[in-house]
Amino acid sequence: MKHMKTVLILEHTEEVFDKLTCDVCGAESKWDENWADGDEKKAMTKILLEEEESLPRGGQSTQTQFHICPSCFKNHLAKWFASHRKTEPTVTHSVW
Ligand SMILES: [Zn+2]
Repeated sequence: MKHMKTVLILEHTEEVFDKLTCDVCGAESKWDENWADGDEKKAMTKILLEEEESLPRGGQSTQTQFHICPSCFKNHLAKWFASHRKTEPTVTHSVW
């Protein structure tokens, strides 16, 4: 005898993260927010302005972000700050 049962099959779509593209040159990250091209490497950039207001009845926040690849960070953004604002980034090294 062939027994049948009723099952619920859900079909849906949802937005999931696919990749990042550089807002300056259009380069694509290899996966997630890591711009590096090797499993043992990590290269992440953040240019983010977070604005938040918290009030007793609630609040609001706005995030404004540029997604920029490491090459554009070094060759465009950092050079622009150095030449236009005479400023250098803070660089911190770690070894483990
Ligand atoms: Zn870029």
